[in-house]
Amino acid sequence: MSDLETEIARRRTFAIISHPDAGKTTLTEKLLLYGGAIQLAGSVTAKKNRRQATSDWMELEKQRGISITSTVLQFEYDGCVLNLLDTPGHQDFSEDTYRTLVAADSAVMLIDNARGVEPQTIKLFAVCRQRGIPIFTFINKMDRPGLDPLDLMANLEEVLGIRSAPVFWPIGDGDQFQGVYDRQSSQLHLYDRVQHGANKAPVRIVDLSDPTLDEIIGSGPAQKLRDDIELLDVAGEPLDPERIAKGEITPLFFGSAVTNFGVERFLKRFIDLAPTPTSRPAQGGEIEPSEPEFRGFVFKIQANMDPNHRDRVAFLRVVSGRFERDMVALNPRSKKSVRLTRPQKLFASDRETVDVAYPGDIIGLTNPGVFQLGDTVCTGAPVQFRGFPRFAPEHFGVLRNRKSEKYKQFQKGIEQLSEEGVVQLFHEINAGRTEPILGVVGQLQFEVIQFRLISEYGVETSLDRLPYGHARWIQGPEDALREVYWGMGTRRVEDSFGNFVCLFESQWGMNHIIENNPKLRFLSTALDL
Ligand code: GDP
Repeated sequence: MSDLETEIARRRTFAIISHPDAGKTTLTEKLLLYGGAIQLAGSVTAKKNRRQATSDWMELEKQRGISITSTVLQFEYDGCVLNLLDTPGHQDFSEDTYRTLVAADSAVMLIDNARGVEPQTIKLFAVCRQRGIPIFTFINKMDRPGLDPLDLMANLEEVLGIRSAPVFWPIGDGDQFQGVYDRQSSQLHLYDRVQHGANKAPVRIVDLSDPTLDEIIGSGPAQKLRDDIELLDVAGEPLDPERIAKGEITPLFFGSAVTNFGVERFLKRFIDLAPTPTSRPAQGGEIEPSEPEFRGFVFKIQANMDPNHRDRVAFLRVVSGRFERDMVALNPRSKKSVRLTRPQKLFASDRETVDVAYPGDIIGLTNPGVFQLGDTVCTGAPVQFRGFPRFAPEHFGVLRNRKSEKYKQFQKGIEQLSEEGVVQLFHEINAGRTEPILGVVGQLQFEVIQFRLISEYGVETSLDRLPYGHARWIQGPEDALREVYWGMGTRRVEDSFGNFVCLFESQWGMNHIIENNPKLRFLSTALDL
């Protein structure tokens, strides 16, 4: 195996998807506890910066008590390099959250055992499903009483339409939670509670066939475990690696992040089952990770991570080849060559620099003004990764420029912010240059836009909210389009690329139109339209 192949084989790039409070932060910390964190970028580093930050931009973050900045954590476990992409969740839920999933090769879906599948999980799951990436389900908080594990499986199937294949099975819950049974090894992993879970949980391993099992875990729990396992063996979904790889079934794990129960075992099994960095579609064919030329795509642009500068950082996912600091690469969109000089700064932990990166890794490029969302960066013959998706916004409004003499700055600001992916712009069809309708996925993005327009472009604006809550890109034959009865509560517009979009006030109204027009396609994601 070449060095490049060895590095690819040991990498896993994934994101945790969950509803707020399911325990994502806790699980992330625990994964870092088990892996030695080798580089902390984005969230952790940014938090450190934030403490010293006095800039007004950071002020917005402080006021709201949220983290707008967050990116990727890299840690090693058992010889593997894990890139954990952070998906901003609470009020800072935005299109970035979805975009991050485009850079991931698999996802861990974290679910609160008492709540089951929750709304934000549904949205993030839909994006993963659409991409067809493997989704691993971790049912968390087993140290608290929750739903019956079989009911949780039914919940996944009913709400998300995915069948699960239990890898672990819990032994009790709440106070009675003793550990997990690993169906592949037929072993029970029993834990002692560690104070606050600050240390790795001590574990005792027992075979299911151990004659003293009833004494060890009690005869009631032992009988329930045997019964459940028998049922799963007969009626459950087998752990078929091919179907997992396509995201058709989800391997199911149980544990408790706060007490560390099941976390390390999960990490091990995840590494076994999760894909190594995958190929990506480009014009002219798939780009395989093992191809020697360095290629990557920009999936996120972040403004002002360094409070002392007005920098924009372009986050790039390496797809193929080996990245080296100071290398000269091409941006085929602008046809310009660029020296990738300062990727290291973001990833400063022990060392100041990232000298090399491999497929699956994320690097931050600070070259000002050079990159746009979806750009390809490559060496060798120019290639272009195929369509970077845009996701249907859920909040809409019109921004009014308060001072007419600032018109040019206003226009420029809005355009640049849309190129960065902070906002999507929609226009009345054939209406010429009217003020655009702005669409965002998370409400907070409006505040971010207004804030940045003031601080970077000197433009004060006011926002008129519009009553729409849904958008779909619509495709289909002309005559079918003409026949649609749009009714009240809809507005037809076009996006910045001239694609036809309809905004809907209510989900019910939208579904009604979708059902009545089977010849048309209503897309919640725009990709290469
Ligand atoms: P996030 O919003 O998904 O990042 O969730 P956090 O990690 O911040 O956790 C939300 C709350 O759930 C916190 O109070 C955690 O201490 C708690 N929590 C997380 N994991 C567990 C768990 O395994 N068991 C219990 N009992 N509480 C947990």
